[in-house]
This record gives sequence, C-alpha cells and structure tokens, in this order.
Amino acid sequence: MTASAQKTTAAPGILYIVATPIGNLGDISGRAIQVLRQADIIAAEDTRRSRTLLAHHAIKTRLTACHEHNEIAKTAELQGRLLTGQSVALISDAGTPLINDPGYRLVSAAHDHAIRVIPIPGPAALIAALCASGLATHRFCFEGYLPATDKARKDSLRRLQNETRTLVFYETPRRIAASIRLMAELFGAERQAAIARELTKQFEQIVRAPLAELNQRLAREEIKNKGEFVVVVEGRREGRPNRATTEARRIQAILTQALPPGQAARLTAEITGGNKNEIYRLAMRDKE
Ligand code: SAM
Repeated sequence: MTASAQKTTAAPGILYIVATPIGNLGDISGRAIQVLRQADIIAAEDTRRSRTLLAHHAIKTRLTACHEHNEIAKTAELQGRLLTGQSVALISDAGTPLINDPGYRLVSAAHDHAIRVIPIPGPAALIAALCASGLATHRFCFEGYLPATDKARKDSLRRLQNETRTLVFYETPRRIAASIRLMAELFGAERQAAIARELTKQFEQIVRAPLAELNQRLAREEIKNKGEFVVVVEGRREGRPNRATTEARRIQAILTQALPPGQAARLTAEITGGNKNEIYRLAMRDKE
C-alpha cells in the first residue's frame, strides 16, 4: 500500500490552503495540523523556515519549495500531482498563503482543472492588526505594501486620501517611519491610526494614536523600527473634507496676512506636519 493510500482524512486530489502562525507557534488549528500530517506533499515558501514549525508539531510530510522565483514551474508540477490524485497542502512562511505571498497561480490553475480547493483558515497579520486597532472594521481595504520609492509611495497615498474605509498596510522596518510621516502629511496629522508590531511575538506592540503622535513616537524610538509591522489608518470621515488640507489652508490663510506665501507655507508645514510644497500649491489654488 502506498503512503497516500494509507491516508484517511485528506482526500486525494485536493489542494489545501493552510494558514500557519504569524509568530507564536501555538497559533495553528488542530485541523491545519491534521491536514499537514496527512497531505501527500507540503508546498512551502521557504522549506527551511517551515521545518521549524513542522518539527514543533511532529509533522513529517515531505516538503517542496514554492516561492515567487519558481512559482510558474512549480505550479505545473503541483497541478500534475493533484491531477494524479495526490493531495497538496500549500503553506507560506507565515500566516495565510496568498496574502502578500505566493499561491495565486496554483489556486487559479486548480479551479481551471476542476481540482477541489479547501481553505484551512487561521492567522493573517492584517486581520489581527485590524481587530486590535480599535478602528472601524465593518468596511476596510487592504493595500499590502506601499511602493518602495518615495514618489510612487506618495502617489499611492494621495490616491487614498479620500478613501472612507479603514486602510490596512503592511510595512517594513526600513520604511515605517517615512510612511507614517507621509501619511500624517497627506491624511492629516490628526487622523487616527494604529501600528501593530511583532504581533503574537515576544515584543508585540500595538499603539493607536493620531498619525502625528505615531510619527513622534517612532522618532523617539518608543515604537522601535524593528520587526514586522501592520499599519491601520482610519478612513476619511464621510462628509468631511480631508482634515489635513482644511487645517493647513486655515493656518496658511492667517499667516499670509503677515508673511510672504513661501514663508507662510514653511511655517504652516511646521505647525501641521504637512508638506511645504503641497501647502503652497493649495494656497496658490485658493488664491486663484
Ligand atoms: N501571509 C502573511 C499574512 O497572512 O499576514 C503576510 C506575509 S507578508 C510577506 C509579510 C508581512 O506581513 C510583514 O512584512 C508584515 O508587514 C506583516 N506581518 C507578518 N507577520 C507579522 C507579525 N507577526 N506582526 C506584524 N506584522 C506582520
């Protein structure tokens, strides 16, 4: 009898999408452990990293690597296995596969070939952060990582200025401070936001405050720029214009009564945490 014929629970020919912990190894469901033990093969992003989790739960199933660099070839191979009746469990380095992780091609191919797809739900950093943020959860949009370059990041945030749903971003330690500064500038210093760092791990930190305060706390290293981050930002309140621009315009209008517009824009930027050029541009537009 082959190894796969001995298995009872994981039906052959099924693709399982299995969520694994985002830090704390205990955050895995009994069903996930069972499926991982009984699958014919586990497709993992980084087989070395996954071995720690699998060893912790005495899971001895064979592993194969499926990451962004081999996803196309690996999808074809795994699809072949599924079509010959093997069961495949897809996991990522952390949390839910496909959430900013590989797997989309494989799931799409499975549907194209009438292969059954079964999700085994569990942790996802965005959901843990959103639920712990104290911000509205009934409507939200997940933006993943912002672009790496300053210009593209600014353009993305500008496009989100009027979004009324709660916004959720993934961030890196290298860019967290710059992103929060930009958000304060474009969404308004007063807009509420939360930084969720190292969720479920030893140095977990969840801080909710207006963007300007988060900016200061990062600068003072009260929030360390180490580890993994999720940023949750309050959406623009319905019926209200963007607070940042309203307040900056009001201050700029007062200051230009006594100062040249450039100098007034510099001071307004200092007071509101906004961007000098942006404020100057808005003031010129108001004047016209
Ligand atoms: N698939 C994962 C999930 O379900 O959340 C996300 C993978 S994505 C490549 C990795 C990013 O998720 C990190 O850079 C960070 O922004 C976020 N993340 C993952 N684990 C986290 C944790 N324990 N605390 C805070 N953010 C986390």
